[in-house]
Amino acid sequence: MVFKTDIQIAREADKKPIQEIGAKLGISSENLVPYGHDKAKVSQSFINSVQDRKDGKLILVTAINPTPAGEGKTTTTVGLGDGLNRIGKNAAICIREASLGPNFGMKGGAAGGGYAQIIPMEDMNLHFTGDFHAITSAHNLLSAMIDNHIYWGNDLEIDTRRVVWRRVVDMNDRALRQITASLGGVSNGFPREAGFDITVASEVMAILCLAKNLEDLQERLGAMIVAYRRDRTPVYCRDIKADGAMTVLLKDAMQPNLVQTLENNPAFVHGGPFANIAHGCNSVIATTTALKLADYVVTEAGFGADLGAEKFLNIKCRKAGLSPSVVVVVATVRAMKMNGGVAKADLGVEDVQAVQNGCANLGRHVENLKSFGVPVIVAINHFVTDTEAEVQAIKDYVAAQGAEAILSRHWELGSEGSADLATRVAEIADSDEANFAPIYPDAMPLFEKVKVVAQKIYRADAVLADQKILNQLKDWEDQGYGHLPVCMAKTQYSFSTDPELRGAPTGFNVPVREVRLSAGAGFIVVICGEIMTMPGLPRVPSAENIKLNADGDIEGLF
Ligand code: ADP
Ligand code: MG
Repeated sequence: MVFKTDIQIAREADKKPIQEIGAKLGISSENLVPYGHDKAKVSQSFINSVQDRKDGKLILVTAINPTPAGEGKTTTTVGLGDGLNRIGKNAAICIREASLGPNFGMKGGAAGGGYAQIIPMEDMNLHFTGDFHAITSAHNLLSAMIDNHIYWGNDLEIDTRRVVWRRVVDMNDRALRQITASLGGVSNGFPREAGFDITVASEVMAILCLAKNLEDLQERLGAMIVAYRRDRTPVYCRDIKADGAMTVLLKDAMQPNLVQTLENNPAFVHGGPFANIAHGCNSVIATTTALKLADYVVTEAGFGADLGAEKFLNIKCRKAGLSPSVVVVVATVRAMKMNGGVAKADLGVEDVQAVQNGCANLGRHVENLKSFGVPVIVAINHFVTDTEAEVQAIKDYVAAQGAEAILSRHWELGSEGSADLATRVAEIADSDEANFAPIYPDAMPLFEKVKVVAQKIYRADAVLADQKILNQLKDWEDQGYGHLPVCMAKTQYSFSTDPELRGAPTGFNVPVREVRLSAGAGFIVVICGEIMTMPGLPRVPSAENIKLNADGDIEGLF
C-alpha cells in the first residue's frame, strides 16, 4: 500500500479561516491577532478577561523511552484531541513550536503525522509567527550588552573568563559551539572564548514557557545569571539592565499561537524548550489559557516519561499549579520490539515474544506515573505493519498490570481511528480519580531531590556526585535557591544514563557530571552524561532535498 506523505495530506486539508477556529473556543475575531489567514495570536487582554473561569481537564500525553522506530507522541496528542472533538467534547490541543535547526538535519517535524496533524505544517515547522526569532534576538541582545559593558570599562567587574551567557542561533551549526570572540584589535574589545547554543536551549526559551505574564517574564529574565566576578559572586541580567528591552522584544512572542488540526479543531502551538537542559513542554500561558476555553486540553511532554513527564509533573505543574486528570502513555509495537532486542531492520517480521520482552519498559513508566497520583492509560499508536497478536500482547501485559491499553489508528484514519481512545480518556478524566502531587516537596534538599528522581523513577541504586558538586548544591541552598525543583538532563533512550540499556534496567548508578543554576527559569539543571546544546547536521542533511516546486509549494519537508 502506498501512503501519502505528511506534507501531501496537510496540503489537501480543508483549512478554515482562523477566526472560525477561534469562534469554537469563544474567542471573537477582535481578540485574535491574525498572522495571515490560518494563524493568530490570542490577545493579552482576552487572556486576562478569562482568568476567573473554571479550568477544563488537563490530559498529558507521554511515552515509553524513544527508539529510532518512533513512538508518535505529537501524532497521538493531535489524534486524541480530534477524537475528543469527534465524540462531541469541547477539546483543545497544546503542543510545542518547532526548532528550525532539526528540520534541516534529520527528517521529522513537530506537527504530528499522517491524518493527525497540525496545519499549516510548513509554517509551523519553519518561521511560524516569529517567536523563536524573537527569542534569538532577546538572547543575543543580552550577549551584546554584556560584551559592551566589558568594553566600556567593566564597572561590574565581570571576570571575562567566567561569562556564562553564550549566544544562540536557530540552526544546527557545530562550527559555532566554541568560538573566540572580540578578535581584531582594540576597537573590538577584549578577546575571550565564547560559543553558540541552539535557540531552543536558551534559558530565555525556558522562561517564556514558564512565565505567567509579562511582569513575571521580566522578573525572571532579570534574575538570570550571566557571569561571575573574580570572587565568584554572580552578575545578573538585571545588573546589565537588559531585562526591560528583552521583554519588549518578547512581548508578542509571549502570546499563544492558535492554529488548527486537519479536522479544524483548535490547537495552541507555543514555546519549545529543550527537553534535556530545560523542561520540554508547551508554555504555561498557552496551557492555562486553553484550560479556560476548553473542557479538555490535551498536551504533550518531550522524550520518554522518565524525562518529559517527570519534568512536566515536577516542574511545570508544580510551578503553574496545574493538575492533570489523566496521563496517556504512547507505546508502539515497533518500539516494544526494539526494547525487546529486535534490530530496526527486522521490525517488519511478527515477533510476539520480543513485544512481550519489551513491555517491561512500558510497565515501569506506567507504574512511575501512577506514583504521581494520576490515572494512567496506554495508547497503542497503530502502525499498519502491526499484527493482531502483537497488539494483543501489549494489551495483555498492560491488563496484567492493572491498567488498560487501547489501540488507536489516528495516523491512518484521523479521529475515526481515535474515538475509542478519546471515549475512555474522557471517562477517566470525568471520574475525577486523580489526586496529583509532585513526588518531592519544595523543601527537600537539592541532592535529595536528585536521589528521589533517580531512585523512584529511573530505579538506580545510587547517585554518584563529587564533593565539588555537593558543595555547589549546598552553596545554592545557602543563597536561597534550595526550594527549586531539579531539571534532569540525561539520555532519553534509557531509564539509565547509558543509551544502550533499553527495557527496564536495574543495578546501575546515576553519575552527576555537572550542575547548573537556571535562576531565571527557576530550576537546577542536573547533567548526567553528555549534553549537547548545539546539535550538528548529519552527513546528508535533509536540507539537501527541500525545495520549492514550479507552483511555489514546498517539497521535501517530511
Ligand atoms: P514524537 O512526538 O514522539 O517525536 P511524532 O508524533 O512527531 O513523534 O511522530 C514521529 C514520526 O513518526 C512522524 O513523521 C509521524 O508521521 C510518524 N508516525 C507517527 N505515528 C505513526 C504511525 N502510527 N504510523 C506511521 N508513522 C507514524
Ligand atoms: Mg513530538
